[in-house]
Amino acid sequence: MERQRLIQWCAIWAAAIVVLMTLGSRVVTRSYLAEGSERTQAALRLTTDGLIGHLRRYEALPRLLAEDEDVRAFIADPSDADAMNDWLKSTNELLESSDIYIIGADGITIAASNFDLPETFIGEDFSYRPYFTEALAGRDSRFYALGTTSGVRGYYYSAPIRAPDGRNAGVMVFKIGLDAIEGSWRGTDIGIFVTDPEGIVFLASDPGLVYATTLPMEPERTERTAASRRYSDAELMPLDHRRGERSGFATFHTGGREYLERSATMPGADWAVHALLDTGPLLAQARLALLAGVLLLAVTGTVGGLILQRRAQLAERLALQAEAQELLEQRVEERTADLARVNSRIKTEVTERRLAEKELRRTQADLVQAGKLAALGRISAALSHEINQPLAAARNYADSAAILIDRQDYPRARENVVQILSLIDRIAAIGHHLRAMARKPNQRLEDLDLAATVREAVAIAGPRLAAARAEVVLDLPDLPTVRGAAVGLQQVLVNLLTNAADAVEGTGDRRIEIDATPGDPVVLRVRDHGPGVPTGIADRIFDPFFSTKQGSGLGLGLSISYNIMKDFGGDLRVTSHPDGGAVFEVVMRSALRMAAE
Ligand code: ADP
Repeated sequence: MERQRLIQWCAIWAAAIVVLMTLGSRVVTRSYLAEGSERTQAALRLTTDGLIGHLRRYEALPRLLAEDEDVRAFIADPSDADAMNDWLKSTNELLESSDIYIIGADGITIAASNFDLPETFIGEDFSYRPYFTEALAGRDSRFYALGTTSGVRGYYYSAPIRAPDGRNAGVMVFKIGLDAIEGSWRGTDIGIFVTDPEGIVFLASDPGLVYATTLPMEPERTERTAASRRYSDAELMPLDHRRGERSGFATFHTGGREYLERSATMPGADWAVHALLDTGPLLAQARLALLAGVLLLAVTGTVGGLILQRRAQLAERLALQAEAQELLEQRVEERTADLARVNSRIKTEVTERRLAEKELRRTQADLVQAGKLAALGRISAALSHEINQPLAAARNYADSAAILIDRQDYPRARENVVQILSLIDRIAAIGHHLRAMARKPNQRLEDLDLAATVREAVAIAGPRLAAARAEVVLDLPDLPTVRGAAVGLQQVLVNLLTNAADAVEGTGDRRIEIDATPGDPVVLRVRDHGPGVPTGIADRIFDPFFSTKQGSGLGLGLSISYNIMKDFGGDLRVTSHPDGGAVFEVVMRSALRMAAE
């Protein structure tokens, strides 16, 4: 995408450069030529004005000199030429002209400022010069020529000298040099040349051009020029040139070069002044400007392209960032929504769990209760046996007692009654235990000091322990308070202690060790060093009426204890110690945790 845009950009700029090269080249060239042409025109005007000004400065002088009384007297009587010569010389010096001389009516020079120089004009015949003939005819005249005597180019002004009698008896000639003004044209890039009406160059900033002819030298022209001897013996060479046009501007081609040409006719002199400006540097400048333009365009294009590229990259990056930001926000929103959902689900689950726990506890209690009832059902047969057996025995004792009373054997009858009482007690005990077992627990649970309860239980079981000569070893660390009912827990502990006493009675090691592990749950262990519980009956010892103690045991102690512990939310377990003896574990819930719940 971005690459495509860059390629498009490059193509547009390349096209722009090509168009600019073609169109621009014409426009730029034209503009430079126009500027050059204007400059040439300005130079031409300056040159022409300068030339006119220079020539006009001397215009009036010949007539002024010709009308001098002494001059007029001299033309009437030219016998005393010396004074005139001196005067002409000093006047010439004063006016900074080239030469001043007087020509007699016959065309022979009779006085001259250069009278004392080897190339003096005195005696020279200038009758062929137009300025002489015209002045003699009474008109002021001007003429440009190469001096035949002096070999110096000059501009000749002439005026008729009227003799005192009024006729034109001579001509006053005033010649100025034009080298200085020609010299002032040099030093610039604009070339100047001046042509006479015959097309002959007689003034030029380039000395090589002087006496070149710019018009075809037709015989009449050559003749006219030769007649005036304007250019004396100078060789007139045709100038190899042609005129043309470039971008609407007149051009002049010579010497293998092309020049812009501006020309003007000099008023009052029949001269054409030409200004030339070499087009080479102009075209070079135009090419340079064009090149600079193209370079500038290329640079601008490159910079523009780079800026475009950077902007596109930046825009893309920003868009990506915005997209990423949006995505992030979307994700955060989704996550937040997820979390909120999870949170509410957790809350629901917690509520559900609490309810389930509550339900479970109720179900558990119901189950325990149901278990008890089921147990009662299961034991009904055993129960009838347990009750019927002492009942039958009691009946037998009662029958015997009746017979013994009849025989008046009261002591034995009394023994039988004692036996009957014992049997009644046994039945009563069964009844008591069964009541306890069948009842639904309604004792309130409380925070119990386990160690204290243990000590109380040890005290209660004291006589039995003493009878069995059992030795209780307590190892109770700092125990947390536990949840339970004091009477129930005491009942359990007394039961365990009694069983332990039974187990160790008559054995070598009669230690009963009680220790506990704090935490939650709190585990209290009662270990004896008796024979232990054989694996085969371990899972049955908590059943009601299970007893291995023939005749002396009801088999209800552990069953009732187990149920009490379950009522507390705890447990009662049995294991065998690796070193022998039974270990009963009383598992209690910590009061702290209960409080936390
Ligand atoms: P009882 O003591 O009247 O027999 P229990 O329910 O208290 O009834 O005990 C059931 C049986 O568990 C006992 O008969 C005995 O076999 C076994 N038992 C209980 N405690 C111990 C013990 N410390 N060591 C060995 N066996 C035990």
